[in-house]
Amino acid sequence: MSDWTELGDRCWVRRYREWDVNVGLVVGSAGALVVDTRATTAQAVEVLAEIAELTDAPVRWVVNTHAHFDHTFGNATFTEAATYAQENAAAALAERGPALQEHYRDNPGPDLAFPEIPPELLAEVAATELVAIDNTFAVAKVIDLGDRRVELLHLGSGHTDGDVLVVVPDVDVYFVGDLVEESAAPSYGDDSYPLEWPDTIDRVIGLLSATAKVVPGHGAVVDAEFVRAQAEDLGTVANTISGLHHAGTTLEQALAHTDWPWPIAHLEQAVRRGYEVLGVPRRPTLPLLGPG
Ligand SMILES: [Zn+2]
Repeated sequence: MSDWTELGDRCWVRRYREWDVNVGLVVGSAGALVVDTRATTAQAVEVLAEIAELTDAPVRWVVNTHAHFDHTFGNATFTEAATYAQENAAAALAERGPALQEHYRDNPGPDLAFPEIPPELLAEVAATELVAIDNTFAVAKVIDLGDRRVELLHLGSGHTDGDVLVVVPDVDVYFVGDLVEESAAPSYGDDSYPLEWPDTIDRVIGLLSATAKVVPGHGAVVDAEFVRAQAEDLGTVANTISGLHHAGTTLEQALAHTDWPWPIAHLEQAVRRGYEVLGVPRRPTLPLLGPG
């Protein structure tokens, strides 16, 4: 069903049905760069074959927008490429990747979080070879593709603490990973930063021109206006969590709160993670009368 969409000169995205994930491709005179690698060896082999339909250039660079399996587990298949990720993402992949595989070995599925994914595919995720990231960075990295450059930027925490923006300046394209989602609400997991996400996305917005093409981790390509609207909702979530906490609301009560931009089922981890950072809420006290 999927096909490459050309976003600009030698810059493509392909949207895959499984997990509705996006893979980016940027070709320069010195080789090709791939953004995210899908979830299994077989899926990554498919990506390599599909890249060969577009270009003879060898894939020399792989960049992961963050650590999650649906964006990284295909890395090992790109044997001619050097892999890049933000340092927190590289650490998370090394630590949580094998744990997720063990989880799927013990719980062969279906996974309630992805009911449409067949158990055989989860078994493939569990059996896929994982490799360590070759090159990590804290804030920024430039990759020279010969006749063009690609910039990797970590602007703060949000979906994870290792989110990276892959910027292709000469065609005004931004691969933003799961900092932005088009086909679903932004995903708050147990490794998300709901209170920091709004500031991070504001920094992203600060970079975007009115005509920027923004590729989310999942779903269709969007523009700056879409990102601005989603940022507003991310801000509402953060403010609601802080406001409830400030008012002395317990975690249980906060989880029962109903006025959110997205269904609470989707925000449970956001509330939990927010409360983890803010600590046990104090009941507000009435001002006491002073002595005398
Ligand atoms: Zn994702």
